Amino acid sequence: MKINGRTFTAPSFIPANIRKGFGLPGIDEQDAMYAYYFYRLIQRAENVTATYSVIKEGISTGELSRYGFQLQYDSVQKPEKISLDFSFAHDTAKPIRIESSEQIVAKLLSKNTDEHPLSPSAVNTYLQCSLRFYFRYVMQLPEPDEVQEEIDGMIFGNIFHDTMEALYKPLIGKTVTKDDILNISKNKVLIENEVHKKIAKNYFREKEGSSKTVVLEGKTLLIYENIKTYLKQLFKIDIGFAPFQLISLEEKYKTLFEININGVSKSINIGGKIDRIDKANGSLRVLDYKTGNVKSKSFKEVGDLFIKDLKDPKKEVLQAMIYSWVLWHDLKETNIKPGIYSLKDLFTDKFNPEISWEKHDFSFSELIADFESGLKILLEEIYSENNAFVQTPHVEHCNYCAYKTICQRF
Ligand code: SF4
Repeated sequence: MKINGRTFTAPSFIPANIRKGFGLPGIDEQDAMYAYYFYRLIQRAENVTATYSVIKEGISTGELSRYGFQLQYDSVQKPEKISLDFSFAHDTAKPIRIESSEQIVAKLLSKNTDEHPLSPSAVNTYLQCSLRFYFRYVMQLPEPDEVQEEIDGMIFGNIFHDTMEALYKPLIGKTVTKDDILNISKNKVLIENEVHKKIAKNYFREKEGSSKTVVLEGKTLLIYENIKTYLKQLFKIDIGFAPFQLISLEEKYKTLFEININGVSKSINIGGKIDRIDKANGSLRVLDYKTGNVKSKSFKEVGDLFIKDLKDPKKEVLQAMIYSWVLWHDLKETNIKPGIYSLKDLFTDKFNPEISWEKHDFSFSELIADFESGLKILLEEIYSENNAFVQTPHVEHCNYCAYKTICQRF
């Protein structure tokens, strides 16, 4: 029998109807007995506090018992009913601000070596959110892998970079003709093999040269087809641009830059891996392959590139410009043209990778003085003891930040 949601078993083998017929005590009497105990218990009490849980769990129905209802509706006592609940809303997170110090600057300087120069992406991180820069480059907090959207884009980018490097590598140092690129683009087996190998390396984390065969399906098959489509288009563009001299692919470049840190002159290593450098018509093109969105390849004023906390910073432009500056500063190359091979733009009419300044193409030497002074001011700020690392005012920049749990920006 079910009473108030609970199943009661009569402590007898005699069925309930027979018990009733012969006037024997049954489940009703048993129930009345418990009601008696309950009312007897509270009979002389001045104050009674009873609680019940609304959680439905196991045999608990999460409802007020019949005695509670009886007291509420059928007694003169009129008990007061209070809901005890908790507010789960947390307090608004307090802003985080880290004041720089002698120790922080010393740590940053000690990390800046020949092997680990300050990279354009570190500079971009600082401009976008100086606190993120602090977490990553000062505290060196590891970035967890679960920022999935960024990871997927990164893997796709790495597969593309690696495949391009493998396909063009035999041409480094040579003058690349239209026929050279045509030969590569027609070699379906070579292209498919390379893309497959790079997916195995970057997606499945297989060692290069591993004999293990990876089967492409679903997402990886999609990546495979997409990379091939982009490669085909890139070859088309390069055929249109050839002949050119291929100087380097995925090679590290760096330079030393003297700045003033807290009144003392110090040299900072700046550099990184440049995707591709080629030369044609007397100009050195410093190229960056971009698989993500590149909103704009032009800028108005050089100084704008160094403004902090912009909603839409021109990260890609600044990166290509820093690489160009590294070459200018280190190799004394004068006719340098920074450019971005944005994969999403490859299919546009009259694709032009060159970065434009106030809507016209330019050579880096035209604005070198302004660029160098902007970079110097920024670096002196990063390495200053009087600096502070603060959160970005644009919460949308936090979406893919590995440290958003620290900042409580969800
Ligand atoms: S969560 Fe936002 S504010 Fe915090 S470090 Fe990341 S980007 Fe900066």
